[in-house]
Amino acid sequence: MKQSELFLKTQKEFPKDEVAYNAKALTRGNFIYKLMAGVHAYLPLGFRVRTKVERIIREEMNALGSAEVLMPALHPKASWERTGRWEGLKKIMYRLKDEAGHEFGLGPTHEEIVAELARFEIFSYEDLPKSVYQIQTKFRNEPRAKSGLLRGREFSMKDLYSFHTDEDSLAEFYERAKEAYKKVFARMGLTAYVTEASGGDFSKQFSHEFMVETEAGEDEVMLCRACQFAQNREITAAKAGDKCPSCTKGKLESVTCVEVGNIFKLGTKFSSPVKLHYKDNKGEEHPVVMGSYGIGVDRLVGTIVEVSHDDKGIIWPESVAPFAVHLLALGAMTPDLKKTAEALYTTLEAKGIEVLYDDREGLSAGEKFNDADLIGIPLRVVVSGKTMEQGKFELKRRNEKEARMMTEKELVAYLAK
Ligand code: ATP
Ligand code: MG
Repeated sequence: MKQSELFLKTQKEFPKDEVAYNAKALTRGNFIYKLMAGVHAYLPLGFRVRTKVERIIREEMNALGSAEVLMPALHPKASWERTGRWEGLKKIMYRLKDEAGHEFGLGPTHEEIVAELARFEIFSYEDLPKSVYQIQTKFRNEPRAKSGLLRGREFSMKDLYSFHTDEDSLAEFYERAKEAYKKVFARMGLTAYVTEASGGDFSKQFSHEFMVETEAGEDEVMLCRACQFAQNREITAAKAGDKCPSCTKGKLESVTCVEVGNIFKLGTKFSSPVKLHYKDNKGEEHPVVMGSYGIGVDRLVGTIVEVSHDDKGIIWPESVAPFAVHLLALGAMTPDLKKTAEALYTTLEAKGIEVLYDDREGLSAGEKFNDADLIGIPLRVVVSGKTMEQGKFELKRRNEKEARMMTEKELVAYLAK
């Protein structure tokens, strides 16, 4: 894609009204536009990143044997009344009334809805276990929507729901989901601690949160770096410096984290109210046992920026970078320079390499370098009068200081691998 064709320009300064780094950098780099607190538009660069984050999630959920669905955001009041959450979640649910007086809620989550629709799929023990997932927009009236993409009032979540005959089947799936989650985060360059947390209203057992260490987070985790035992501060009386309860050598440390995902054993809390039952092999009816598994899609985009940047801007991991290569044409855009840069651009694109080509006229080398550092594409290739004299291109990684010179052949071979 040519940079001159991009929708919006980068800004000279970080916005003054933002506190979180992801909000500052993603706004200045024109990845996102804040419509109001906690509600953002994705611009072309940001949309490409989010699409890649979603793709990784989809691949791992599909590998888990789950199939993608899409549930609506607008829900009738009756669906939420059956479980008592029309009242229970009224602080965070956006609730509306139409002209005729009918009441609706904008879904903050989908346990009620998925249990309702599963009644038309699950009748017998032979129909179980099963799971479905979606990547869908959630609405929550968050009182503190101030951390850019980390806490939205409208945000995208991957939510998966599993259905089982009993706790053992749920436990088996739950462990496999945990492993799938670890893969999702690792593929995005994130270290996520699997953290014991409260089962909430749902369950007496622990749930597990996937916590990424960053000052921008809102959670406190008691962590043992020796064995990676982690517990949410909310459920433990342990203090920093205490011996780790799970290994002999480690001590607990208090670290600030953001929760990028969590997994819950729901039991029959949501199946019972809608009579989501199955018949066992004797023909006896039982409520279906459920699990729910969430990942914050926007929150992941924001988290990656929080943990992967320097004083010049973002450093995207290759797996989610908006483009693989940022090609800069520097100096006056002479016919020669244009021709050389465009030829490389065309060659790389033809090889399936995603290139953002900075073909903008009238910008200084410094301005183009600054934009490239801010936007954070992992590889930068420069074409200028100087490189053309040597018959070469300059290649630099965003996370390295040194650049190296390469012929077109060397460069294409290097990038195509
Ligand atoms: P938190 O404790 O941060 O408020 P939660 O426990 O309410 O989150 P869940 O309801 O389990 O979160 O949602 C699943 C995932 O969705 C979370 O792990 C998080 O990554 C993401 N998420 C939750 N709320 C938001 C939000 N307001 N904005 C962006 N992502 C969110
Ligand atoms: Mg939570």
